[in-house]
Amino acid sequence: MKNIGVLALQGAFKEHIKIIKSLGHNGIEIRKVQQLDDLDGIILPGGESTVMGKLLDDYQIKEVLVDKIKKGLPVWGTCAGMILLANELDGHEDAHLKVMDIKVKRNAYGSQLESFVIKEVIKGVSEKEIPMVFIRAPYIVHIGENVELLHMVDGNMVAAREGNMLATSFHPELTDDTNFHKYFINMIDEYK
Ligand code: GLN
Repeated sequence: MKNIGVLALQGAFKEHIKIIKSLGHNGIEIRKVQQLDDLDGIILPGGESTVMGKLLDDYQIKEVLVDKIKKGLPVWGTCAGMILLANELDGHEDAHLKVMDIKVKRNAYGSQLESFVIKEVIKGVSEKEIPMVFIRAPYIVHIGENVELLHMVDGNMVAAREGNMLATSFHPELTDDTNFHKYFINMIDEYK
């Protein structure tokens, strides 16, 4: 059984915890820096990245989290979580954690397509089609050379991995499909 933290300052953390528990692991709501010790992995959920970034600073979690990720703590950012991981944000001067070599565009689908669901096979994650829920979603506009592109939708990069870091534009925690959570849990094993 693994201890998997979910940053619980804001956003869709409860849904991640529920899936982690359903897969037989310990899902822990993270609100304090001390709770980052003894985690096998951490999820940064969807929500509002500007608010979450500010709360990470206010709660003095940011620096320790960055250090742990750089030392190899497996991390998965979904939607706003992807924005938090990025080294660079398109059209913004600064970024948040700046740990993953990706450049991300926020609210990339514009106002007409703020939310949509599509089903596709994601190679390496599931042989069957899995639903992807996009809500005011970002996508990746550039990846560094050590970043593995996992999936594209309509020519846009929506899932990527760099060593211990995984980022998805969409929200697997808002569906019944647990394949992406299983992928992250396998990634924790691989990375150990
Ligand atoms: N648009 C949000 C942001 O910029 C992300 C949306 C989401 O996490 N569903 O933070």
